[in-house]
Order: sequence, then C-alpha cells, then structure tokens
Amino acid sequence: AFCVAQDFDFFYFVQQWPGSYCDTDQGCCYPSNGKPASDFGIHGLWPTNNDGSYPSNCDSSNPFDISKISDLVSRMEQDWPSLACPSSSGTTFWSHEWEKHGTCSESILDQHGYFKSALDLKDNLDLLQILQSAGIQAGGGSYSLSSIKNAIESAIGSTPWIECNTDGSGNSQLYQIYICVDASASNIIECPVMQTGKCSSSVQFPSF
Ligand code: 5GP
Ligand code: 5GP
Ligand code: 5GP
Repeated sequence: AFCVAQDFDFFYFVQQWPGSYCDTDQGCCYPSNGKPASDFGIHGLWPTNNDGSYPSNCDSSNPFDISKISDLVSRMEQDWPSLACPSSSGTTFWSHEWEKHGTCSESILDQHGYFKSALDLKDNLDLLQILQSAGIQAGGGSYSLSSIKNAIESAIGSTPWIECNTDGSGNSQLYQIYICVDASASNIIECPVMQTGKCSSSVQFPSF
C-alpha cells in the first residue's frame, strides 16, 4: 500500500457520558489527575463515509506525538478524559484516537488541528446544558429517547444519534451522543448516515 491519506465524507463527533461508561459491569478508572468534571467528555472525531463505512489506521508513519499538542494538553485533560482501566493521564486514549481515526483525515487536519478542532467543537456545543434546559438531568432518572433527541435537535438544528449501553441491572442508559460535522470539522451538518444499535424507548441518565 502507498502512504496516501484516505478519502472520507464527514466526521462523527462523539461524546461520552462518564456516568454511563462507569456504570457497567466493567466499571471504570478515574484519570491519574482525579475525577473528571460531571460533563460529557470527548470520545473522538471519526472520519466516515456517506455509506457508513470508514477508514482506520491510515498512516503508521505519523504516530501520536504529544509535543505537537503541548499547548492543548490542559484542555484535553478537562474535555477528553480517559475512563478506561488502569488509570492513565489520557495519552493512551488520545494516541489511539489519533492513530485509528486522526491519521485518516491528516490531509485536512494535522495533529494539532485535529485535536484543536475537537476541543473547539465541544466548546461550542454544551450538550449537558442543552439537555438540562429541556429538563433532562443526569440524576439517575429515565427519559424517552425521543425527548433527548428532540432537545438536541432543537438546539443545534440537526439530529444526533444516541448510543446506549446497559448498567449492571440491564437498564438501557445514555452512553454516547454522535453529532455529524463536515469534512473541515467546523460545521454541524445533518448526518448522511446513522449508526446502528439499540436503545430502549426510555433510557436512564445516570449521575456522575
Ligand atoms: P462499536 O463497535 O463500539 O460501535 O465501535 C467501536 C469503534 O469503532 C468506535 O469506538 C470507533 O472507533 C469505530 N467506529 C464505530 N462506528 C464508526 C463509524 O461510523 N465511523 C467511524 N469512523 N468509526 C466508527
Ligand atoms: P474506539 O476504537 O472505540 O474509538 O476506541 C476505544 C478505545 O479507547 C478502547 O481501546 C478503549 O479501551 C480506549 N479508551 C480509553 N479510555 C476510554 C474512554 O474513556 N472511553 C472509551 N469509550 N474508550 C476509552
Ligand atoms: P425512527 O427514527 O423512525 O423513530 O426510529 C426507528 C428506530 O430506530 C426505532 O426503533 C428507534 O428506537 C430507533 N432509533 C431512532 N433514533 C435512535 C437513536 O438515536 N439511537 C438509537 N440507538 N436508536 C434510535
């Protein structure tokens, strides 16, 4: 294969609810610098094609290099914490996301641009506030999937995709929110294709 950046059509910008990542049989570990804020955190910015397929691991010659994003690290620690075990500073997660996904949009965004774009998208998209304003709070209660989707759609003008996972008792809970953005990673767009996977019609929103 040649070292050519692959094409893609748009990004999924994916945020995770830490309470739902932690509230599973597998559990979680807080980052080495302590419990993250009670807020959605970034999972990733994933180049995807209009038919739902996606490129991955596009350029092994361009590995994650934290020195390229040293000015962004404090924002990353705040907005892109890793909850996987064992506890880490986040660099393993960021490195995985860059190498699997970021290298597939490197013709458009270099490492600094990739991470800065994700951070800026999050700054302009306060999902927790959007949900709170619609009366949807992270307190262990349940809400209809459609009320969650409608609240976000009314606020941002495009339909999100909701991914659920299940807690130890088998309850469907709000795990990740997918927002589609254009290939420049700056404008929210209507999703060309949605994900698959089930939520119950009523989903829990655990506290964190
Ligand atoms: P899962 O199997 O949990 O849905 O996804 C596992 C991983 O596959 C995700 O964390 C992400 O790295 C990747 N992935 C899943 N769906 C998509 C997609 O539609 N686009 C891209 N680019 N990556 C995806
Ligand atoms: P994906 O391929 O699903 O984008 O990447 C998920 C990978 O990142 C998994 O190997 C997972 O263990 C690791 N990871 C590290 N921290 C986190 C986290 O906070 N959330 C999720 N979903 N995955 C994490
Ligand atoms: P519709 O969008 O036509 O109301 O939904 C069709 C099916 O997809 C329904 O079973 C609905 O529960 C499911 N669905 C719709 N939106 C989402 C979503 O954001 N996440 C998940 N997991 N399922 C969804």
